[in-house]
Amino acid sequence: MSNVKKILIVGAGIGGQSAAIGLKKAGFEVDIIELHKEFNVYGVGIIQQANALRALDAIGVADEAMRRGSPYGKVKLCLSHGVQIGEAGTPPIGRFPSHNGISRKILHEVLYEEAQRVGLKYRMGVSVESIDNQPDVVNVAFTDGTSGSYDIVIAADGVNSKVRKLVFGEYKTSYVGLSVWRYAFKRPADLDTGYIFFNKKHKLGVIPMTAEACYIFLNSAEGDNPHIPEDQLVEKLKAYMSAYPIPLVQGLISQVTDAKLVNYRILETLKMPAPWYKNRVVVLGDAAHTTIPQLGSGAALAIEDAVVLIEELQKEGSVEETFDRYMKRRYDRCKMVVDVSETLGAWELLEYNDQPLPEGANMGMLMGKTGMALTEEI
Ligand SMILES: Cc1cc2nc3c(=O)[nH]c(=O)nc-3n(C[C@H](O)[C@H](O)[C@H](O)COP(=O)(O)OP(=O)(O)OC[C@H]3O[C@@H](n4cnc5c(N)ncnc54)[C@H](O)[C@@H]3O)c2cc1C
Repeated sequence: MSNVKKILIVGAGIGGQSAAIGLKKAGFEVDIIELHKEFNVYGVGIIQQANALRALDAIGVADEAMRRGSPYGKVKLCLSHGVQIGEAGTPPIGRFPSHNGISRKILHEVLYEEAQRVGLKYRMGVSVESIDNQPDVVNVAFTDGTSGSYDIVIAADGVNSKVRKLVFGEYKTSYVGLSVWRYAFKRPADLDTGYIFFNKKHKLGVIPMTAEACYIFLNSAEGDNPHIPEDQLVEKLKAYMSAYPIPLVQGLISQVTDAKLVNYRILETLKMPAPWYKNRVVVLGDAAHTTIPQLGSGAALAIEDAVVLIEELQKEGSVEETFDRYMKRRYDRCKMVVDVSETLGAWELLEYNDQPLPEGANMGMLMGKTGMALTEEI
């Protein structure tokens, strides 16, 4: 086993909590800090493909996530009036179905409860003030005036990672020209799996979250000024949804009533170049690779990162060798997901702007091929 004993994890999101749970179970001494005083996870859902469930299983929470979520098969790809043109998603892996839809809030709770069960103590409302990253130790000053020394620090603090900035410098995200709208609903009785409906100007997904709830996502192109005032969110989302003349979508429109519950955001990516580590600080999840949700796989990558890092930390070798093995096992796979997601996003953008797609462009085929690649062992 490497000589790492004491670990600081910065960020208690999906990746940070997954790493904390697995490392604690493996016998490491783990501190985890979270910027926010309380979790304020928004109420829409997240798609977990079979590879995400396999990774959650490695830290012992896949069954609970499926029990409290909504497992389903492949996603049906349909034209806006409902005719099915294909299907997409990761094939099942062993006992894990193609997909589990789950509320983000519930996924957070599943992780947090497991963390409490294994004895992790979160320090909420705390960030890093400064990091002295030496070859043999990392000394960290926290924003609450305390400090600590660690064998390693894991930066799991998301797309705008402060740790990444302090240790590696500035990296900027790229806006892909698309926005996403999300809203949670009562689940219609006839929602039997996930659906994606394609329109010429946007696409709409309907995803189960629990037996009683589902959410939609809708991708649109809002141009160079994608800011939308809050008082326009409800009407604009309803207008977009009305372009799908099928009972499943039409039946949901009247439930869109509260602008505060419309989760609207622009889509950005970030690919941190290698190496993802310097001395004793290593980067994980969105902090290293932020993708757009075209493959529904960003969180899956963060959980897989955590699982691989935990495995590598239990092997022999220096910290540098350990981090290097971790990064090499993760780099190509994460890059593939971000690259393919960017390609799918670029094709969507062309379509929404009435421009021709490149010859041979086939979204369903690319999604299927990538879904298959994600079943490979990590
Ligand atoms: C619209 C949209 C839809 C998506 N849908 C899916 C999907 O269906 N399936 C999927 O797998 N992925 C999806 N993703 C991607 C997924 O949400 C992210 O990849 C995932 O949340 C990354 O986890 P993370 O732990 O790396 O980062 P985060 O979830 O961002 O967590 C980072 C944590 O660090 C904390 N933090 C930040 N700064 C500091 C600091 N300075 N100090 C301490 N703590 C800090 C934050 O508060 C947060 O708790 C989607 C993303 C978007 C934008």
